[in-house]
Amino acid sequence: MQIPCTEKEVFLFNQIAAAAQKLQMPCFLIGGFVRDKVIGRPTKDADIVCMGDGIALAHEVASLFSPKPVVAYFKNFGTAQIRLPELEVEFVGARKESYRSDSRKPEVAPGTITEDQDRRDFTINAMAISLNKEDFGRLIDPFNGLEDITKKIIQTPLAPLQTFSDDPLRMMRAIRFAAQLGFTISPETFQAIIDNVHRIKIVSQERITEELNKIMVSPQPSVGWDLLFRSRLLQEIFPQMVDLYGAEYIDGKGHKDNFYHTLQVLDNISAKTEDLWLRWAALLHDIGKPATKRFEEGHGWTFHGHEVVGARMVPKIFNRLKLPLNEKMKWVQKLVALHLRPISLTKENITDSAIRRLLFDAGEDIDSLMMLCEADITSKNRVKVKRYLQNFELVRKRLQEVEETDKIRNWQPPITGELIMEKFGLSPGRPVGLIKDAIREAILDGLIPNEYEAAYQFMLQKAAELNLQAVE
Ligand code: ATP
Ligand code: MG
Repeated sequence: MQIPCTEKEVFLFNQIAAAAQKLQMPCFLIGGFVRDKVIGRPTKDADIVCMGDGIALAHEVASLFSPKPVVAYFKNFGTAQIRLPELEVEFVGARKESYRSDSRKPEVAPGTITEDQDRRDFTINAMAISLNKEDFGRLIDPFNGLEDITKKIIQTPLAPLQTFSDDPLRMMRAIRFAAQLGFTISPETFQAIIDNVHRIKIVSQERITEELNKIMVSPQPSVGWDLLFRSRLLQEIFPQMVDLYGAEYIDGKGHKDNFYHTLQVLDNISAKTEDLWLRWAALLHDIGKPATKRFEEGHGWTFHGHEVVGARMVPKIFNRLKLPLNEKMKWVQKLVALHLRPISLTKENITDSAIRRLLFDAGEDIDSLMMLCEADITSKNRVKVKRYLQNFELVRKRLQEVEETDKIRNWQPPITGELIMEKFGLSPGRPVGLIKDAIREAILDGLIPNEYEAAYQFMLQKAAELNLQAVE
């Protein structure tokens, strides 16, 4: 083998070779597995391309194992998968493809290994390793993918304009690989992306978003988002992000470029967490800024209420990007809505009640929120950064103190709606909500202690103000 494989992998490839020989069907390891082994990245799946029926080969391979693994196959595509403990292996017959301009569905016909390599997206993804008896383990690298890995370059095997026009998803993949691997897209290939951006509209949103999520979980996601922006793909797939770009000046006063600020916040948080949704929250935290931007005489630029407007935009953006419209979306929305709260706390005298309110509103998510707020500090002024961080330290300390005494995080006020209804013979409605809210506010404000008896007395008082009679 010309690539470093584990013993188990070599054993598996020998089994595949034996099965292929029995069927007289030459076969090769190809694509991502070869690339990742050369780079030294972990791999979970391997693609096998064969000169014949991939499904038949998969069945033959499966029969060499005991217990026999399940073969999942897709007749229409001529592909089959076997899931083994160490690796998921996919089998497909070698193909050549030709495309029509109005569709990304290619016309596919059986081909040679060379033709199959020609249709691959990038040189680093087009390398193959022979699993055949005569040259088992030989690297077949017609486009010098090995050299491009050394040089850390992403480029297409054939003319990039054609490659991207044939399947525009490849433009997203180029940028995703650049972000994942820390590689550079060659100038010619990048220019071809710029020239083909409008064709991204024939690609399904699900596949685009799959690439966006891979960019999001890459080590430094700003790399991918910046490339999306500079290639102008971003304009096509997510224009609200582009609206963040640039700084406007009036009377010599400017504001910061919110696009690059956002990317830095995203990188800051990515250094602390791998959580995809926290990273999305960072990306979207200022998305309401363009819509709320004002220039106030004598004051400068303001973005009042951008957290509210931003939170309102989150479901629409998730919907457009076909991200899940479930509790993940709600969570991102909540963080966007609350992202200024800890910062505003550092600007005033921090009262216990302000801390209690923040704990109550953030609940379980207080730590994520604090992480987002710290990531939000992107000033280049070191003294300022230091001061902000110290302030946050103080907020953290106070949060801890108040939480220890008051246990607000997962707190429910001691008087429930049911109790109020029962006591005053009410059915669900406005008075119940009024009393409940008043009790909650009184406790959060420190007006009454967080105890049943005090809250009960307060309930009676509020009810009297509303002319409600207790039922015996
Ligand atoms: P990853 O598994 O990390 O997403 P990968 O390169 O393995 O990366 P796959 O989608 O698993 O990507 O595809 C396996 C191989 O199939 C690729 O390495 C590439 O050779 C080829 N390939 C995948 N998608 C395309 C495409 N849109 N156009 C051309 N070739 C592709
Ligand atoms: Mg793969």
